[in-house]
Amino acid sequence: MRAALLELIVPSVCPGCDEPRAEGRPLLCAACAAALVLLPGLRAVHTAIAYEGKGAELLRRFKFEHRRDALRVLLDFLVERVRGQQFEGVVPVPRHPGRVRELGVDPTFELGRDLARRTGQPLWDGVLGRSRPTPTQTGLGPADRRRNVRGSFRARRAALRGRSVLLLDDVTTTGATLDEAAVTLREEAGARRVLRVALAGTIAL
Ligand SMILES: [Zn+2]
Repeated sequence: MRAALLELIVPSVCPGCDEPRAEGRPLLCAACAAALVLLPGLRAVHTAIAYEGKGAELLRRFKFEHRRDALRVLLDFLVERVRGQQFEGVVPVPRHPGRVRELGVDPTFELGRDLARRTGQPLWDGVLGRSRPTPTQTGLGPADRRRNVRGSFRARRAALRGRSVLLLDDVTTTGATLDEAAVTLREEAGARRVLRVALAGTIAL
């Protein structure tokens, strides 16, 4: 009974490579930990890991295979990254409802919810929304990315007046989406300060 319960709480394989994991060892095996590239920031955005190699693999397992153990190790890096930062609540960058239906889940929402839990701050869900779906950013240059997302968010009027917000996305490239969402949070919701954070950053456009 106790062993079965432990099995539920402590997964017995590494979430990065599925190698068996000995009891008492860290969740992410030494080889995966060594292969993961940390990235403290990309442009003005706070990031935790580089979106490449093992980092991209862990994100893929979390997003498309719904691996909770992958989310758990990714979250550890994210929590570590925002430690010491001042914020009063977490706002995940919302996907358009149509996109969420396609994927079945909203990974950024799940990340934001767990980050809020782990940092003891509220999740301000439903404050920020999409006003229209945006075409995929893949393959676009920085200027086109900015144009692509302009005016694509809406926020509940004065909902965060004077508040300091941690705005979270899963992956950032140019920061265009986070910038646009941050402007909307300031101008429409009245946020005083918006800390832009992404779990992973990629420099490949
Ligand atoms: Zn591993």
